[in-house]
Amino acid sequence: MVTWQLFVSPFVLHVFIAGGLAFALIAVLDMAVPLAPRARMTLYAAVLAVPIMSYFVYFTHIFGRCSRLFGPFAWRICTMGRIYAGFLAPFTAVLLGLYLLVRLWQYYKSPLRLSRLVAYETARARVAKALADIDEMVSLRIAVYANCFPTLFVRDADAPELCVTTGLLEQLNDAELRAALAHEVAHVRGHDNVWNLVFLLREVTFFSPLAHLAYARYCQAREEAADYAVNDTYRLELASALLKVLRRSQALVAFTKWRWSESFFVGGGDMKRRIELLLADRRVFSPVPLWAPLLALGAIVVFIC
Ligand SMILES: [Zn+2]
Repeated sequence: MVTWQLFVSPFVLHVFIAGGLAFALIAVLDMAVPLAPRARMTLYAAVLAVPIMSYFVYFTHIFGRCSRLFGPFAWRICTMGRIYAGFLAPFTAVLLGLYLLVRLWQYYKSPLRLSRLVAYETARARVAKALADIDEMVSLRIAVYANCFPTLFVRDADAPELCVTTGLLEQLNDAELRAALAHEVAHVRGHDNVWNLVFLLREVTFFSPLAHLAYARYCQAREEAADYAVNDTYRLELASALLKVLRRSQALVAFTKWRWSESFFVGGGDMKRRIELLLADRRVFSPVPLWAPLLALGAIVVFIC
């Protein structure tokens, strides 16, 4: 008989087993060859998608296409999910429910939500001018927030909005501001505001440490890809802007004991590595075609049972 437990119970197993295999595969490839940041970003996003996709493929087992699900015992995900459904299904439901509550609470306490949107015309005009200096073609809505934390990011998938804090504008000179904006324009050009929906995959698989690791690597690769896309003339200024933002953030975090985890310009991650890469010569990447590792991940989705 098909019950709700049968739908929910193997979810945790898919996250750990399919997700674990996918992560191992890409992590080994990542160690073995120098991948371009955009390719790394795509592959780690795909790692996060694998357990969710294999979980949906599992639904075909429920509807009778898998002979093992109701058949004799075997160490397959679908049979384990059925045998331990009494425990796994309520466990998964409670786990996801509690996490949703914690996230909603964090959202309502978010410093960005609580900071004031200001209409400082001088601040807005400074950003608009710097933006026009680097690229006349780009049109972004600009929002200036009154907050001491130096941050800058683009949000909104269909009409990108550039959010900047007064804390950032105080720290950077005009050349550094242009470099930082060039980095944000690279995000817009790469449609990273749409790519960022990948965070939803991490949210539903939050209980897996490997999902967090894959997401951290995805974020690092996304930032390095935007840094890499910045024109050579802005690279030194961008490194200098990152250093200033890092220093100021560290001082503020030490002082206030809170972190702005949603800051995409700061973004946690490995800032030292980003600065080193900006100062280094242009790198040469491996010519491994992206479809090969993606095909291997697809095989995990289809063949894990
Ligand atoms: Zn960025």
